[in-house]
Amino acid sequence: MSDHYGDVKVQLGQMKSLGEDAEKEEVDPEEEMPVSSPSASPDSAGCCITTAPGTDALSTNICKQKGKRSRKNPCGKPLQGFPAHAVKNINSPICEQTLLIKGTGKILQGKSAESNGNYVAVHESSNTQETRCEDEFKLPRKRRPVTVDTSKAKTSLEALKLSIKELQWKEFHTGRRAACDIYWHGVSFHDNENIVSGQVNKFPGMVEMLRKINLSRAVRTMQELFPEEYDFYPRSWILPEEYQQFSTEIRMVKESDATESPTFIVKPDGGSQGDGIYLIRDPGDLKLVVGAQAKQAVVQEYIHKPLLIDKLKFDIRLYVLIKSVQPLEIYIAKEGLTRFCTEPYQEPSQKNLSRVFMHLTNYSLNVQSGNYVHSDSQNTGSKRTLSSVLYRLAAKGVDIKRVWSDIIALVIKSVIAVLPDLKVHYQADIPPAKPGPTCFQILGFDILLMKNLKPVLLEVNSNPSMRIEHEQEVAPGVFEYVPSPVDEQVKVGVIRDTLRLMDPFNKKLTATPHPAGGGSDPVEVYPKYTKQFSHLRLVERIAALFIRFLGVKGNMRLGPTAFRTFIRTCKLSNSNLTMASVDILYIDITRRWSFALADSREAGMGLQAFVEAFFNLAGRRFKSLALREQVVSLLDLCESHLGPQSGAEDRRSLSCSRALPRGGRTPALYLPRPRPISPAAHRRATSQDCRPHQRPKPRTLRANVEN
Ligand code: ADP
Repeated sequence: MSDHYGDVKVQLGQMKSLGEDAEKEEVDPEEEMPVSSPSASPDSAGCCITTAPGTDALSTNICKQKGKRSRKNPCGKPLQGFPAHAVKNINSPICEQTLLIKGTGKILQGKSAESNGNYVAVHESSNTQETRCEDEFKLPRKRRPVTVDTSKAKTSLEALKLSIKELQWKEFHTGRRAACDIYWHGVSFHDNENIVSGQVNKFPGMVEMLRKINLSRAVRTMQELFPEEYDFYPRSWILPEEYQQFSTEIRMVKESDATESPTFIVKPDGGSQGDGIYLIRDPGDLKLVVGAQAKQAVVQEYIHKPLLIDKLKFDIRLYVLIKSVQPLEIYIAKEGLTRFCTEPYQEPSQKNLSRVFMHLTNYSLNVQSGNYVHSDSQNTGSKRTLSSVLYRLAAKGVDIKRVWSDIIALVIKSVIAVLPDLKVHYQADIPPAKPGPTCFQILGFDILLMKNLKPVLLEVNSNPSMRIEHEQEVAPGVFEYVPSPVDEQVKVGVIRDTLRLMDPFNKKLTATPHPAGGGSDPVEVYPKYTKQFSHLRLVERIAALFIRFLGVKGNMRLGPTAFRTFIRTCKLSNSNLTMASVDILYIDITRRWSFALADSREAGMGLQAFVEAFFNLAGRRFKSLALREQVVSLLDLCESHLGPQSGAEDRRSLSCSRALPRGGRTPALYLPRPRPISPAAHRRATSQDCRPHQRPKPRTLRANVEN
């Protein structure tokens, strides 16, 4: 679709044969409670047949499988000229068969030889002699099937089962006494507390981090550091704590221009599926409950000029795989869903504010409208595939490549915003010394396209629905779950391709299009675009400092002594920052954040409070610089006192001198907006003890988003 992906496709094609090797395995004799075992082909049971990708260069062999095998190729050394992953695979053969490379000069001097079976992709070699290895090497032997514990999969179960079946992996739907390779949780990392190995499809802390308030806070911190880069998230205030700030700003807007009448959308913090959401045009219309029952919510600029199709508002559900946080690896499924409203859109007015079928795209709401059309094809109805919508837009002359690259940027930046907190959770739940699983997770990004085609992030779902059936009234008053072809096509593809990417036997491989088709066509976006985005990973470096001083494993908050140790070790105290003022800073910030995080049980300073303290310290130390440079300078200073491990993984690319604009095309800024004034910034600016960093004067709020 975009230029970015041309390369990826080539790469995927080259890796195809290796990826598919993963699907044929031996059967594990220790299995218990097997639920559905793929019917093992005669080949996979004891014999494998291979055909040569280069035909005339590689000969076909049939061989029997026997007991133990050598893990080395006949040369006993890696085969040079092969990509590392291919070499790894070749070096761990499971089948006794031998694939002869005859006259290797021919095949190995040529371009990569690609095959469409379970075969090794042979890549261009600079030294055919080394690669030839006495004209012979062993093919990867077959291995047992990847095992997947689906006992906690909940509503993902149907799609998961289909995916596992397509992959010919082995499902354990009531759990298994022995460890599984992959555990599929329906809700959170903690669905099953007893996992000490393998991979779990949820990160600890993701649910918490992606709640509306936490996501808004994390993005706002990034908006303070990189306002232009983070303009894809609507301006947001957190209720009830920022009620005063919100109403003051709106009043100022209205006073400065009587024609301005912005609309806001109010979303309860823990809400989903449109529950409890409403639109307002005046702060006085907020349904605030005061006191202990005060409900936390986010109030957000309402994007009043969305792109319409057939006069209807729609949003995009994009599936994003976080394959790893350390190092950061992100994939985006190119196939996703679009969800349509069921009433023609009109810009918000006092009259239509409560018309949910016009303003909210949630399936759960619109399905209740008489106008909802269950899609029986991909490109009609109230839920369609993303590709069908993009094709339609392309046919109208829309620059899809640009839209897609803006979406990629939005996704990477959003993940970078939540990553620091995620790492704190991760080290607390799975400390390095403790045996534990590794994690991956599919996230559901809800994205709205504005009329000017700028993508706007609405929210990120830690637990996107993987249901592939929907409720339908089959007779008057009689409801039944019936298959939903669009959901099935997209979600089974997403899960299956995720599993393929997480295949424990092929760690270095990317997913390849599955022969069954209907894949989500995932593409790697990180580390692929590291260069363009690594400068944004500043808060992660602050988180690395924070984690370093947390001390006790499992802790997520810094105590006063640890905070003092941080100041001392990094040699931050001087005549302008006495240890007494350090204590005051700690108490001041921690107390305010303890109100903000009303539900937190642990005492001390959490990461977001530490980030605020860090910004404050940076402002005092490097007064003449702008905020971002202040922070970078203080980080450099701290890290210089701490040694090499303190930075984030791309430490070198995050240096102060790095040019901040990205190498790639910078998406146009679509949301004319004031520089956000976060409560943290506001507090820093007003705190007696604080000498704030230099920052531009906040502009007044321009109403809404303009196209
Ligand atoms: P929920 O988790 O309850 O689905 P969302 O944040 O996804 O909450 O919002 C629900 C719906 O409201 C979205 O699908 C979208 O149609 C609409 N919406 C949300 N935020 C905005 C916004 N800032 N501007 C315009 N529409 C929005």
